[in-house]
Amino acid sequence: MALKEQIVDLTKKLASIKSTADRPKELARVAETVEKFLANEKLVKQKFIKNNKVALVYTFKKTKQPKIFMIGHLDVVPAEDTEFNIQVKGDRLIGRGVEDMKGSDVVMILLMQALSKIKNPPSVGLMLTTDEEVGGFNGVGYLINEKGYDCDVAFVPDAGENFDLTYAQKGIVHLKITAKGKSAHGSRPWLGDNALDKLVDACHYLREEFPPVKKAVWTTTCNLGKITGGTVANVVPDQAEMLVDIRFTEKHNQSQLIKKISQKLSDLKVEKISGGEVVYTQPNNPYFKSFKKLTEKELARKARTFRSHGASDGRFLAAKNIPVILTGCVGGNTHGRGEWVSINSLLKLYSIVKNFVLTEGFKDKE
Ligand SMILES: [Zn+2]
Repeated sequence: MALKEQIVDLTKKLASIKSTADRPKELARVAETVEKFLANEKLVKQKFIKNNKVALVYTFKKTKQPKIFMIGHLDVVPAEDTEFNIQVKGDRLIGRGVEDMKGSDVVMILLMQALSKIKNPPSVGLMLTTDEEVGGFNGVGYLINEKGYDCDVAFVPDAGENFDLTYAQKGIVHLKITAKGKSAHGSRPWLGDNALDKLVDACHYLREEFPPVKKAVWTTTCNLGKITGGTVANVVPDQAEMLVDIRFTEKHNQSQLIKKISQKLSDLKVEKISGGEVVYTQPNNPYFKSFKKLTEKELARKARTFRSHGASDGRFLAAKNIPVILTGCVGGNTHGRGEWVSINSLLKLYSIVKNFVLTEGFKDKE
């Protein structure tokens, strides 16, 4: 079967599985489908299940540290049932997950299959997880932070579109900030200690520290997502809390931000709910440059480089100072109705990644 038909076939098969976070059986089934597909190849497979989330790791040799890791997720965001009837119209595959990112998963799966047949395959691994859409902590996070997986460079085709290369993605910190006070009657506020007032002061501080922006600029932002406290107008509230979402650039990191805010708001309780480090790969990183060059050769045009306000599993690798190459195929309506991916662009992605692993997968560490 020609490569194109193989891509279409397997993408249709994987994308028709409703592998959403609330369907653990389908998450298991989508992974099993990949396992079956690769069952007869000369590959080393490791399977992990953490909190009901399956992860698969394929390498050519028994190693936890191949030079290059290709990383994909097999889970998708929820959609109506009809979105899982995958259609082919002209150059387009249409349906939930074809662009984000089962089409790209298939490209990497087929590449591993093809490389497993050559005599000395490059030092490449494939990580497929099933929890990216819900944070990635039981997938890539688990493999990198608890299972000892490592690499010199990671390739994550889960960002941007049209082969744009994303070299930076903002980090995230979600904080819960709690204020305690003393209740009193609203007519004698001097007898109490108003917890909501304390949070209002905290909001002023956060606004000063992270001035609001009105357009997409590459700066650290802070969103006040929720504020609660108090009961009725004439009672001084003794407890209040707020949730904030900070998205930070490479000028910050999680622990430094939390420390700074905690010090400034020392009479409040500042707790981290969740977070992820910023991805920042220097555009002059040799792997990044090499990938860009190969992309431009394939497309016969310049590749654009980007900084993105979104996040991906790349953050777990970036936190370990591993350079991350982020790109995406031609497609659209991601996470929406009628999600689509161009089949031709998947073929191009195959060719670019193949050339990349064959160029960089044998080189010694620089
Ligand atoms: Zn994705």
